[in-house]
Amino acid sequence: MHEYVIARGVVESVRNFSLNFGCGVKRFKVLVGELSMLDIGVLREALEGLIAASEVRGADFSIEIEPARISCGSCGNIISFGEAVSHLSEEEREMIHFLPDLIASYAACRRCGSLDLRIISGRGVSVRDVVFTEG
Ligand SMILES: [Zn+2]
Repeated sequence: MHEYVIARGVVESVRNFSLNFGCGVKRFKVLVGELSMLDIGVLREALEGLIAASEVRGADFSIEIEPARISCGSCGNIISFGEAVSHLSEEEREMIHFLPDLIASYAACRRCGSLDLRIISGRGVSVRDVVFTEG
């Protein structure tokens, strides 16, 4: 269900690109955050259906997973989500996957020990690398 709403947003955004630049869209890339909890298969299907029914029909797309990264607010150290949760139990890991803001309650910076951890990528969905058709 989330997938359909997000697919609508993606197609709307690609359509806006097309209208703003006054040309058709050949292809684009959808970057999906590792923590977004979306079903890629469902998202792909929703996108295919919506694109076919929109002004940008015929546009090709690919979906890529953006890895989640965490930054330490104290020393600037950047670690992957996997590293940050590697010492936690499976249950804790699953909980943080659903509620990423809990990361600071369970993990500390490996370099300085600070609990000031922030998720800097891997949460949302974005449209990248839009290629327009010639003419
Ligand atoms: Zn640190």
